[in-house]
Amino acid sequence: MRVPAEARVDLGAIGHNIGVLREYAGGAEVMAMVKAEAYGHGLVEAARAALAGGASWLGVAKLAEALRLRDAGLTVRTLVCLGVPGEPYEEAVARRVDLTVGAVWLLDEVVRAAERAGREARIHLKADTGMSRGGARGDGWEALVDAALKAEATGHVRVAGVMSHFACADEPGHPSIAAQLGAFTEMVAHAERAGARFEVRHIANSAAALTLPEARFDLVRPGIATYGLTPVPELGGFGLRPAMTLVADAALVKRVPAGSGVSYGHTYHTERETTLAVVPVGYGDGIPRNGSNVLEVLAGGRRRTIAGRVCMDQFVVDLGDDPLAAGDEIVLFGPGDRGEPTAQEWAEALGTISYEIVTRIGARVPRAYP
Ligand code: PLP
Repeated sequence: MRVPAEARVDLGAIGHNIGVLREYAGGAEVMAMVKAEAYGHGLVEAARAALAGGASWLGVAKLAEALRLRDAGLTVRTLVCLGVPGEPYEEAVARRVDLTVGAVWLLDEVVRAAERAGREARIHLKADTGMSRGGARGDGWEALVDAALKAEATGHVRVAGVMSHFACADEPGHPSIAAQLGAFTEMVAHAERAGARFEVRHIANSAAALTLPEARFDLVRPGIATYGLTPVPELGGFGLRPAMTLVADAALVKRVPAGSGVSYGHTYHTERETTLAVVPVGYGDGIPRNGSNVLEVLAGGRRRTIAGRVCMDQFVVDLGDDPLAAGDEIVLFGPGDRGEPTAQEWAEALGTISYEIVTRIGARVPRAYP
């Protein structure tokens, strides 16, 4: 059945992108970040495509995401990157989900869960090397390492990994990059001197995986590049292929006279008699409302700017005299090879990042895997 709007996800592109990332990673393993519905591409489908492409780990933000992967039958090593209180950690331990631990209180919670589960919890210590978000630093790092190694000695925990996250890896040459790398190396060395035997040390997101060989360590954690979007637009596309194409069929096409005010607030008026197309997606589907009169779409083979305000469920395009009919496909964004805008172009037009453009496409828009 044909649907009025859909996000088409090219799973082959995801596999290709993982292949590109594996080449850049050298010998390091690839953890495909599939958090937030795989940046809008569909958690389980994207995860399977990334694994088929050669990823050997999956990364998510929240435990519920990891459990959905387990429910789908994916038993591959999976890391939850965000540590929050009160999660069902016993289930995480029982289902062999790796957990990121950046504070002693969380370690204590995970140890209690491991005791209840009667099984060793696999954890990755999170070092705050300068992002000042999650993770421990200074005395807090020493205390965390000490507590984790004691818990390991009791058999409740396996300290499998050590990780951190860059603040500015997408700005090549930013002084914080070298500072964070130096801090990470020192913090890992401290933990190893204290007796830690890590399987994997990891800090690289997409930008670092693609531009900083010295940041690759044992594992890289690309998110945005998995989906074919460049993490560093000024350095080009790195041979990645954007995986998502957002399309909608014109729901209604009609002629209106010159001077017609279009959509809420009449922020757009037709200059002459013209044809308008109503496109059945709006901000309730994740089309940014501040894209009103700003964002372009491909309609009838030509770029057209959204006319007037984006509404909750629809927006309007002024087609001039182009002969488009109801039911004809309009491409909102995609890889760009048919002349449509890319998610990166939409992001630049709105002063945001491509991450937000693809991730915000809502659950009301079906994902298709042609
Ligand atoms: N690792 C962690 C801990 C993250 O939070 C993220 C996403 O923000 C990533 C890796 C992937 O980042 P990117 O999408 O820039 O590759």
